[in-house]
Amino acid sequence: MNSRPTGTAPTGTGPKSAAATGAVVIGLDLGGTKIAAALFADDGRVLARHTRPTPARDGAAAVLDALAAAAAEVDPDGRATALGIAAAGVVDPRSGMVTSATDSISGWAGTALGTGLADRTGLPVACDNDVRATAGPELAALAGRHGSLLFAAVGTGVGGALAVDGRMLHGASGIAGHMGHLPSAEAAGLPCTCGATGHLEVIASGPGITAHYERLTGAPAGRLEAVAARAARGERAAVHAITTGATAAGRVLGGLANALGPDRVVVGGGVPRIGALYGDALTAAFTSELMPPLRGLVPEPPLFGHDAAVLGAAALTTILPLHHPGALR
Ligand SMILES: [Zn+2]
Repeated sequence: MNSRPTGTAPTGTGPKSAAATGAVVIGLDLGGTKIAAALFADDGRVLARHTRPTPARDGAAAVLDALAAAAAEVDPDGRATALGIAAAGVVDPRSGMVTSATDSISGWAGTALGTGLADRTGLPVACDNDVRATAGPELAALAGRHGSLLFAAVGTGVGGALAVDGRMLHGASGIAGHMGHLPSAEAAGLPCTCGATGHLEVIASGPGITAHYERLTGAPAGRLEAVAARAARGERAAVHAITTGATAAGRVLGGLANALGPDRVVVGGGVPRIGALYGDALTAAFTSELMPPLRGLVPEPPLFGHDAAVLGAAALTTILPLHHPGALR
């Protein structure tokens, strides 16, 4: 199995136990470009896996059809008793609805994800936002059952998940955890994808850092990796764009830590992987915000690797409301 932790899991926990639901379940991860599926045994072992492209331009019904096809691919004999899905967009796990979404998947906002997928697969379905689902195993890995977790995913956007006293927060419309849309001094005046101005995502996401570099230099940068390579060669504008984004993220996370009291802070996603320049600036800004009882808390990388979303999706079937086939008829 490939679902090894990227870090050191505490004794007795880890990817295997995190997906040990006591039943055979399917985990699905829906992103803007790719659908990943895995069939998990009752002890959490991966029995089968499959990926396929997301038909992102073909409408919500086509995406639901592709999700059901991916589920059938990993479970041709119909062994699964439930299905969990981690999906892009703002997802309300109670209603099973996609309450908001960007245009990375056409027509995704307003989709009845839970019942739509239950009807297509004949299985009870638990659904949540992909970042929150990915954070679930990180929460389960905390010592004790009442741990608190601050989880950020910094990539093409800035997403997150918040768990307090052992309970993942969903909030009104399922929006809890969208920390990319907190105000950030470093982003002052810049328009955000959500329609407001000055939000963290504008300055701290991968595209935000790249756009900042382009504003500073007037030169096209292309991808974040190109900015990181220029920073590694000592180019000041590149260093500034990266450290500004990291500092903005660190400050917001430090403030959230004071508000929520996490036992652990996890920063995942593609942007931190560009290297120590980013991580060091984020950690310095984070620690400078902390109140005395939290001193010593430092952001850490995720315990779980590339399987985290399907793993978290499978685990949703044991902790969230299930949407059943036929509920729409
Ligand atoms: Zn925003």
